[in-house]
Amino acid sequence: MDKSCASINGRPVDADGEITILQAARSLDIHIPTLCHYDACDKSLGSCGVCVVEERNTGGLVRSCSTPLEPGMVVLTESRNAVQARREALTRLVNSGQHNCFVLNAAPQDWTAYQMEAMARPWHQAVCPAWGRCELQNLVVKYGVDTALLESGNGLFPVDDRHPMFVRDYSRCIRCGRCIQACNDVQVNLAIPLPDDWTLDAPPPETAYPVVDYDRCVHCGECLQACPTGALFEKKAFQMSVGHETRMVRTTCPYCGVGCQQWLHVKDDRIVRVTGVEGAQPNQGRLCVKGRFGYDFIYSEERLTTPLIRENGELREAGWDEALDLVASKIRETVDTYGPDSVAGVSCARSINEDSYQMQKLFRAVIGTNNIDHCART
Ligand code: SF4
Ligand code: SF4
Repeated sequence: MDKSCASINGRPVDADGEITILQAARSLDIHIPTLCHYDACDKSLGSCGVCVVEERNTGGLVRSCSTPLEPGMVVLTESRNAVQARREALTRLVNSGQHNCFVLNAAPQDWTAYQMEAMARPWHQAVCPAWGRCELQNLVVKYGVDTALLESGNGLFPVDDRHPMFVRDYSRCIRCGRCIQACNDVQVNLAIPLPDDWTLDAPPPETAYPVVDYDRCVHCGECLQACPTGALFEKKAFQMSVGHETRMVRTTCPYCGVGCQQWLHVKDDRIVRVTGVEGAQPNQGRLCVKGRFGYDFIYSEERLTTPLIRENGELREAGWDEALDLVASKIRETVDTYGPDSVAGVSCARSINEDSYQMQKLFRAVIGTNNIDHCART
């Protein structure tokens, strides 16, 4: 092997000590599982211990997310020791909370006092809303963790429902810190401080949870998208679905001219969640409050479905030809009387470029005024 090289699973890779083992593995398309690594900022707090790999020269186990790849290293990502350490990390994470998807088998008459009490709490969902899309659950299944070792602990965890759009259920928080990175490093809103007793590259104390400073929160929901478990969930979707029941529809955000790419999570033809499309231009997975949460208008019974014409102070339904003829005649009448600058056009920012282009052509070239704008000024 070249002196400046290391190897991962037998494949040579340049090593200069400036990239981590995880980054080097990804450059080779070798998958190493992670939970606390947030891809959007390519950083991790080193809290989960799932990305552990074996370095054959020393026989030691290291966290790939925080260990630089040095020349001469021989890294094995799926060795027996690495996989066993990964299973132990997953077991610790499950047992640190109330991840009852592995222990849902108990009949109601056998429920513990804790379970009875938990059922009566606000925002309690017997089946986790992330069921089927939970990264922790998926890894437990993938690595064949012995479910006999998994326990749903007794004890009530705090629930934070102060946010208008979503709930933090700390019983399902694995203290990975991804919501902290999402808020502080990706959106740079600095609304979720790192708890005082967290240290990097070690599991945080069991009682140290991320707590939001709602005076700083701009309601972007980036933390919601970052969470790998069901610890954060939308209030609007409460008890409407669990993760595996939805289908994903890709679309363009209808709000402003930026054109952010979204995934709509749809169940029974209703949107229950919206996330950004990671890696897609122009938003690279990020969304603002409108794109993330402002989809209710689709189902509003107050939406206009036909043009309305006001007559004698009352609105009546009309056909499109009649309505457009009326608008055209009113614009002509006003321009003839007061000149072209007496009218203005305000187009819809949800329109496509071509429609907006035609709108300004109509006002500039046909009517003769530069009074033209659109409504994305929020
Ligand atoms: S909604 Fe946005 S600003 Fe508020 S805590 Fe989450 S990431 Fe931070
Ligand atoms: S709320 Fe979710 S993202 Fe934040 S630390 Fe807990 S599990 Fe991780």
